[in-house]
Amino acid sequence: MVKVVILGQGYVASIFASGLEKIKKGELGYYGVPLANELPIKVEDVEIVGSYDVDSNKIGKSLYEVVKLYDDNAPESLKGIVVRKGIHLGSLRNLPLKAEGLEDKMTLREAIDHLVEEWKELKPDVFINVCTTEAFVPFESREELERALDENRKERFTATQVYVYAAAKYAKEVGGAAFVNAIPTLIANDPVFAELAKESRLAVFGDDGATGATPLTADVLAHLAQRNRYVKDVAQFNIGGNNDFLALTDKERNKSKEFTKSSIVMDLLGYDAPHYIKPTGFLEPLGDRKFIAMHIEYVSFNGAIDELIINGRINDSPALAGLLVDLARLGKIAIEKGQFGPIYEVNAFYMKNPGPKDMPNIPRIIAYEKMRMWAGLEPRWL
Ligand code: NAD
Repeated sequence: MVKVVILGQGYVASIFASGLEKIKKGELGYYGVPLANELPIKVEDVEIVGSYDVDSNKIGKSLYEVVKLYDDNAPESLKGIVVRKGIHLGSLRNLPLKAEGLEDKMTLREAIDHLVEEWKELKPDVFINVCTTEAFVPFESREELERALDENRKERFTATQVYVYAAAKYAKEVGGAAFVNAIPTLIANDPVFAELAKESRLAVFGDDGATGATPLTADVLAHLAQRNRYVKDVAQFNIGGNNDFLALTDKERNKSKEFTKSSIVMDLLGYDAPHYIKPTGFLEPLGDRKFIAMHIEYVSFNGAIDELIINGRINDSPALAGLLVDLARLGKIAIEKGQFGPIYEVNAFYMKNPGPKDMPNIPRIIAYEKMRMWAGLEPRWL
């Protein structure tokens, strides 16, 4: 059994909850879950035991009611879980939503202790963070982090940074847990949090789930690099109509995404071909099915100039939700193995910016094989 707590009950988390229940009822297969049912821990063993949000319209409602906002076929089995109040620290700033958080009436340290107490009752193995994309500043040192908490400097933190701190405290008390950071805030890539996680027995998967166009770009660039074709430039667009794209119209938040997506060019090619890779716009009628486009211009033999143009409409939230079904189970495997801190073997396949810091993006087709071997499975094509 893998017990999961969700942080951020939005589109991705709701599709995750809905799909899991449908699989358990035998109404849905495993498409979109990379490891399907190959792991010793089965998809059916994943159980959501808690959910947190800061949107005042969601707090106190049942998971069923919230999931229904995103999926007309929300399974009734989700009625037993109530969405609890998290920590907001401005996460919903500039969005048409009213935020409420524990820290409205508590200091940060009190809010952390409150969460740890709740988690000791819920007993999660794995935390899955799918909150709204944040604008963040990494911490310079552990001392800076602890001092900012002591001084209750709420403006210094994003919610994710505080959740990870609380999860580390919880992991230390119960002897092990895992944190999946599916959003761009640097956690697996922040040495301060990586160290804290390691010493607290918290496995970390992060940062920023690799869905949509980015992993595809990585594999296309690897294809060109292997044939020694010289990439002149890369343009990659993403236009979507869900709330995450709306949040990304905020400049500071968009910067976080740009950062996690852009490291792939240098990592895969070994030179920094001029590129534009970032979420480009919000267009409401597109809904969750975003438009992606990729344009890569390169030099072939005898100076020939070729172009690749790839277009797609991709359902954004199911793409990440399917990966989360694996990450929850791999989190439990990491705990069982006693491996804590950022786990590169897993991150290199599932994450846009795989931690720990300074570890490269590698072609996903290679990362896939390494991840399988880490999880105790046979490689597929090697
Ligand atoms: P969403 O806006 O539908 O959901 C985010 C949810 O988090 C909302 O319910 C919001 O109220 C809640 N929230 C915000 N701040 C919170 C906090 N501090 N504590 C608890 N809850 C909080 O967005 P989404 O489409 O579900 O995406 C979620 C995250 O996943 C985004 O950060 C996005 O960058 C990341 N992500 C998504 C994809 C994908 O959809 N394919 C890929 C990679 C990363």
